[in-house]
Amino acid sequence: MRRVVLATANAGKLAEMCAILAGHDLEVIPQSEFGITPPAEDGASLIANALIKARHAAAQAGLPAIADDSGLEVDALGGRPGLHSARYAGPAAAARDNNELLLAELALIPDGRRSARYRCAMVFVRAAADPLPVITEAVWEGRIGREPRGVGGFGFDPLFIVNGDSRTAAELSAQEKNRVSHRGQALLALAARMREAGW
Ligand code: IMP
Repeated sequence: MRRVVLATANAGKLAEMCAILAGHDLEVIPQSEFGITPPAEDGASLIANALIKARHAAAQAGLPAIADDSGLEVDALGGRPGLHSARYAGPAAAARDNNELLLAELALIPDGRRSARYRCAMVFVRAAADPLPVITEAVWEGRIGREPRGVGGFGFDPLFIVNGDSRTAAELSAQEKNRVSHRGQALLALAARMREAGW
C-alpha cells in the first residue's frame, strides 16, 4: 500500500479524512506521527493554503501528502468568514467563540437571508516540490440556524442547517456527513483523480 501523509492538525478533519479514504488502498499517516507542526497559513486562497500545508508535510516527512483548506461563506456577511473561518473570532478562537460571534453578527438577519456554504479545496502533492499537484474543490450548501443543535462534526456544524434537510451538520452521523459534505466530495474526487494518475 502506498503511504501518504495527511497534512492537518485539526482533529475533526483528520477523523473525517481518514474515514473517507478508508478502502482506497492508501496507508494514510497523520502528520502528527512525524512530529510535524502546522505551517503559517498565509496564502491568498483556499488552494494556496492547502498547498502550503501539503508541501510542508511532504518536505518534513519525505512522503506524498494530502491537505485540505476549507471555510464557511455566509452570504449575509459578504462571504465572510471564508478563508479566515478558523480564526473568525480571533487568533486563538475555539469553535464555541466562532459560533457565538456568528450568531451575534446574524442576529438581525431573517431566516430567508441566512444562506451559507462550506467550501473545500483538496490537494495532493507527490513530493514537496511537485510542479503539478492534483487539486479538487467542492461546496456544501446550507443556512445558518438560530441556535446550536447536535454534537457531531466540528466547527460551525451545530449552526449549519443542511439544504434539503431540517438537521444541522452536527446532527448527521459521521457517515452521512462524509457522504455529502464539501470535504467528502472534494476528497472522493481527489482519490479518483489520483487513481487516474496511477495512484
Ligand atoms: P482551515 O484549517 O484553515 O482549513 O480551517 C477551516 C475552518 O473552517 C475550520 O476551523 C472551521 O471553522 C471551518 N470549517 C471547515 N470545514 C468545516 C466543517 O466541515 N464543519 C465545521 N466547520 C468547518
